Amino acid sequence: MDAYDRTVDVVVIGSGMAGVCSAIQAARLGCSVALLEKDEVLGGNSSPNLGVHVSGAHSFHPYACETGIINEIEEEAARLNAKIFTHGYHYNIARQWDSLLMWMMDREGVDVRRRTYARDVVMDGTRIEAVIADDMATYTTIKIRVGVAVIDASGDGQIACSAGADFRVGREGASEFGERGAPGKADAITMGTSVTALVRKAGHPVDFVPPPGTPPFEVGYGYGRDEVSDDCLRAHAAWNPDHDLCFLYHTETGGEMDTIMDEHEIYERLIGQLYSVWNHIKNDAHPEESRNWELVWVSPKAGKRESRRFIGDYILTQNDVESGRIFEDEVAYGGYAVDVHDPVGRQAKVRFHSVPPLYSIPYRCIYSRNVENLLLGGRLISVSHMALGTVRLQRTLASGGQAAGAAAYLCKKHRCTPREVYVRHIEELKQLLLKNDATLLGTGNRDEMDMARRAEVRASSEQRFECIECEGMIPLDRARGIIFWDWPRSLDEISLYLRNGTGETITVPVDLQFFGVDRKWKSTDENVKPDHLQGHFNRMCWGGNTDFDRFSPLGSSESSIEPGREGWVRFEFDGLELPEKDPCLDEERLLLRVPELEGLSWGSRAVLMDIGVRCWASPDDGRYVTEPEMHLFKISPRPVYGEGLNVINGRSRRYSTNPVNMWMSRIGEMLPQELVLEFGEPVAIDEVHLTFDTLHRAYRDMPFNSPERRASGMCVSDYRLDSFSDGRWWGIENVRDNYRRFRVHKFEERVVSKLRLSVLATAENGWEARVYQVRAYGPPRQEGT
Ligand SMILES: Cc1cc2nc3c(=O)[nH]c(=O)nc-3n(C[C@H](O)[C@H](O)[C@H](O)COP(=O)(O)OP(=O)(O)OC[C@H]3O[C@@H](n4cnc5c(N)ncnc54)[C@H](O)[C@@H]3O)c2cc1C
Repeated sequence: MDAYDRTVDVVVIGSGMAGVCSAIQAARLGCSVALLEKDEVLGGNSSPNLGVHVSGAHSFHPYACETGIINEIEEEAARLNAKIFTHGYHYNIARQWDSLLMWMMDREGVDVRRRTYARDVVMDGTRIEAVIADDMATYTTIKIRVGVAVIDASGDGQIACSAGADFRVGREGASEFGERGAPGKADAITMGTSVTALVRKAGHPVDFVPPPGTPPFEVGYGYGRDEVSDDCLRAHAAWNPDHDLCFLYHTETGGEMDTIMDEHEIYERLIGQLYSVWNHIKNDAHPEESRNWELVWVSPKAGKRESRRFIGDYILTQNDVESGRIFEDEVAYGGYAVDVHDPVGRQAKVRFHSVPPLYSIPYRCIYSRNVENLLLGGRLISVSHMALGTVRLQRTLASGGQAAGAAAYLCKKHRCTPREVYVRHIEELKQLLLKNDATLLGTGNRDEMDMARRAEVRASSEQRFECIECEGMIPLDRARGIIFWDWPRSLDEISLYLRNGTGETITVPVDLQFFGVDRKWKSTDENVKPDHLQGHFNRMCWGGNTDFDRFSPLGSSESSIEPGREGWVRFEFDGLELPEKDPCLDEERLLLRVPELEGLSWGSRAVLMDIGVRCWASPDDGRYVTEPEMHLFKISPRPVYGEGLNVINGRSRRYSTNPVNMWMSRIGEMLPQELVLEFGEPVAIDEVHLTFDTLHRAYRDMPFNSPERRASGMCVSDYRLDSFSDGRWWGIENVRDNYRRFRVHKFEERVVSKLRLSVLATAENGWEARVYQVRAYGPPRQEGT
């Protein structure tokens, strides 16, 4: 054993996104942390070894991007342009990505050891006392004593397995959890493994001579056996002759083998598959289009999707994810498709069983049920084979990793095991995560130490749930309406701005209809793109279906308007009970509809508001066509929309289109705008947390997923923070060029009666002030803040 024999609080195995986020979180909270990675480069499947793009819930849900440390990493990566953009912008082997991960961990004091294979454990009963690892650079074996906990985020779980942690491999039978997608009988089948590759347009003809032993072409990854089509070759992670640089992963195999013990054979098979696909493209299917193309890089390791899944105190299932279950011990969330790959011969077929709504991941899935100081991170956490189809996305796993890091800190603080954190400190864990910018779907800020929660909030301008600025009148030459994404629980009245252009009094009937859902998940054939969004949508569009027959009546009202009159007309609804709004779901909507009425017109504004959207009935198509504009309306009671008090409503993000949960200054009013928090009695503060809006509706618009952006255009870039005492304002911070969603400002303690945030500019001109949350802390301070 080499001289490197030390004790750290937390040992993290593996530098996938879950491992990195767990290490950063634990270190930030004051733990000493060592991270061991057997590869030369950091990032797991996202590393330059494979280049797998980091995606998550956001691919299928509007505004659903995972927050917290993974978001911070991606914001920095976008800023540094740590990406090589290929066709589809999806994959990335930029070495700068690895350097960024290293820099971020190093900055927090994590002892990162590359090329260090964690091989074995020293146990004390059911507790891991030390991890034994081989440093492959120096040919030495090292021992790291575990002060508090091990977080195994290594995919295969060598350390968890050596410690004797219970795990399973393969598919559960349908009878075990009653999962829709599970096979009749349990078996050992897993999802397969793939290599990735880069091909580029060379500018001159390049021959491809398949190396000896290249097998004959067979349809590959993503195909059913009988489904060979050019679409598959040109999909976003495939070759497309209209681009210059393409990322390929046409290969997958090994699902019927042991993805750990047969890894060598699986890799050789994959290389053969890759050559045979490229040979097929170059020399058989597309010789002309691919003449100038060359294969320039193949991943030196294979990317694994599944091997062992370790068992915690709960196993997350397909039923949980498809019902959008919110657990009382939620610590992370997901929303990617239930994307499960089944072996077909030596290849694999991809099946999207559903697109679930946003669902939570309980804490009980991220610690071992029988090794007392073992936390779990990444794809090896306690989920069924079916649930892994959606949980395995790296942003989702990164959120779970952050939770494991925070839990390790609480184990240290309370001198307890991960299970005892569940039993005794789960609320503290959830609040700690929220305080560190994680997202929980069903839990808000209840931090007693946050003084902002008790402040009065005033804003210089705020966008309300109404549209009252008339820019033109649209004739009711057909039925027209507004489709809303939010509404009150009971409705008293709605006012519409109308004009009666006739010489007669017109009686105007309006009716309310509801688009409800009887199940929360969607299948891919339910994907309907909304007319008004003009490209800003995801792989699944929620709230796009506007078929007449999907709306059912809720209530109606009528009013009359005198001849020649233009103005607000009230429609009474007398406290009509409306369905409860699910803040995570865009599919349910309310339709306010006015029938065709000759001579009547309805005020309109040419602005796309995310409160709702203007629409008109198209009887020929049997649906409402939506337009990126709004009709004039007022509603009572009015749902909270962009009011300043949102910054202390406990939510630091939107989960869908509405509610937005942010302070938003009035659309069209110029910056600067300001927000003032007034504390009844002066308070001592020395730390302020600010959360700005960087959550784009569409995945492709997020800076790291877009080749054009280095930061979110709507992000508050220039701002000032001031405090009020002794009858005047005093500066705290004056920030320029901010690009981060979440900012923590620490300063010398001061006693203040007010706090003021002045929003001076956004990264791109033309945006309103958008702020989700303000928190204020002062002494006495709890640990771990
Ligand atoms: C081809 C392919 C395409 C995919 N597409 C996407 C996609 O588009 N978006 C997305 O988000 N996800 C995608 N996935 C899924 C995703 O990559 C995985 O689910 C995810 O990377 C698993 O994360 P992890 O941290 O558990 O494991 P990994 O990312 O595999 O990281 C584990 C790390 O641990 C290290 N390690 C393992 N054992 C040890 C040990 N004993 N000692 C030290 N280090 C060790 C490994 O070297 C590795 O770096 C894809 C997967 C594949 C294979």
